[in-house]
Amino acid sequence: MAKERLYLFDTTLRDGAQTNGVDFTLADKLAIARMLDELGIDYVEGGYPGANPIDTELFSKPRPMRARLTAFGMTRRPGRSAANDPGLVALLAAQAPAICFVAKSWDYHVRVALETTENENLASIRDSVRAAKAKGREVLLDCEHFFDGYKAKPAYALACAKAAYDEGARWAVLCDTNGGTLPHEVERIVGEVCAKIPGDHVGIHAHNDTEQAVANSFAAVRAGARQIQGTLNGLGERCGNANLVSIIPTLKLKAEYADRFDIGVSDEALSHLVRVSHALDELLNRAADRHAPYVGESAFATKAGIHASAIVKEPKTYEHVAPERVGNKRKLLVSDQSGRSNVLAELERVGLAVDKDDPRVARLLDEVKEREAIGYAYEAADASFELLARRLLGKVPHYFDVEKFDVNVEQRNNAKGERVTVSQAVVKIKVGAEELISVAEGIGPVNALDLALRKDLGKYQSFITGLELTDYRVRILNGGTGAVTRVLIESADETGDRWTTVGVSANIIDASFQALMDSIVYKLVKSGAPA
Ligand SMILES: [Zn+2]
Repeated sequence: MAKERLYLFDTTLRDGAQTNGVDFTLADKLAIARMLDELGIDYVEGGYPGANPIDTELFSKPRPMRARLTAFGMTRRPGRSAANDPGLVALLAAQAPAICFVAKSWDYHVRVALETTENENLASIRDSVRAAKAKGREVLLDCEHFFDGYKAKPAYALACAKAAYDEGARWAVLCDTNGGTLPHEVERIVGEVCAKIPGDHVGIHAHNDTEQAVANSFAAVRAGARQIQGTLNGLGERCGNANLVSIIPTLKLKAEYADRFDIGVSDEALSHLVRVSHALDELLNRAADRHAPYVGESAFATKAGIHASAIVKEPKTYEHVAPERVGNKRKLLVSDQSGRSNVLAELERVGLAVDKDDPRVARLLDEVKEREAIGYAYEAADASFELLARRLLGKVPHYFDVEKFDVNVEQRNNAKGERVTVSQAVVKIKVGAEELISVAEGIGPVNALDLALRKDLGKYQSFITGLELTDYRVRILNGGTGAVTRVLIESADETGDRWTTVGVSANIIDASFQALMDSIVYKLVKSGAPA
């Protein structure tokens, strides 16, 4: 049986840009658009030309891509003609093959927010769609507050969507703007709409205010809608939009959808989903959500001993899909609760296969337990665990020694008479017979120490140029004899690999130093740096 085509519409650059603390530059927007295009998204909504200089510039010239770049804007204002509305004229001038209009579809909003009549609002929808069609654009209509509007006055909400469809809009998109609609309501209402407008012209735009935006999107598809709107990592104002990073693998890997629908995302593109999700976090300077479905670091992590031994024998026992399909990996967490099978499996995964009766396995397990008792957390620090294991098995070359370091924090007046705090670190290391001294200033003591440590590693410098710290987390643990500090550092390199290292000490600088050192040594091991 031929599969039906289901379309994906991304609004990371428009609705996602409404997120608190998110501020895309033009370069950011172009980079994200390229990423979405490579992923196989059908429509990339770039922004709102005329609303701000960046969006205006984005649409000032053609941006060739396979996906349809979409400009967003309002339908013509009440009481004006399409030609006499400067906002609409600017939108029609945007260099984009598709235009997505937003219009009210809740009678209450038409009266109160728009202060016009229901008929004038319908005329505005028809005129705007017609004007954009006349310019050769593909047209979408976002029916704002559609579900609330439908509950209040179904005939009117439907009339708004139908006006756009009848005028030739490719899509009427039903928006759950306040995000409060529940999946069974979405399914019922979309089903009723699809009896009047063919489902292959109906889209769903769900917000996540009850944490059901993904479920609502699927409910709409079950009821007949054939376009899903959402954002990368569920970015969006308040609680976010429907998360395409969760929706895409479900569409590709769950038989109910995979057997019925084709989407623009290939198997190959799907296998890069983790990278795409992390790239957005990186750009936003945010730590990745470890527990994100499909793409989180913990999405395929197993801790308890019996689960782990089963997973090694037959992964399907505890995994709903194969992690490689989305570019993720299976992980067996090593902690004081773990059995021998976790440790063996984790050693095998990192390429350190040893015999199960090797006495060093028991020693490693004891070592992990002892260190976790004083605050180390190996299940969160895979790279530190690997180094611990490699050291025990004698497989970490001796690269360099840190003879001493000195970190200094000073508060003083700068040349302008402003009070500033400056951190400086001096690190003295020995690489073979060579002694190297590096000095660096940083925005804090740990940053200064990191910069000084990585400034000059002599003959190893070329191996760490792509190394970068992506997250730094500190926790104060209350032990029996006083507080200890645990530092977790996440690093990434030029290949897109990420790893986490841990340090524990009563002194935060010392704990950070351990985690930084582990990260550097891990990178050297990983890059095959010679001893
Ligand atoms: Zn929205």
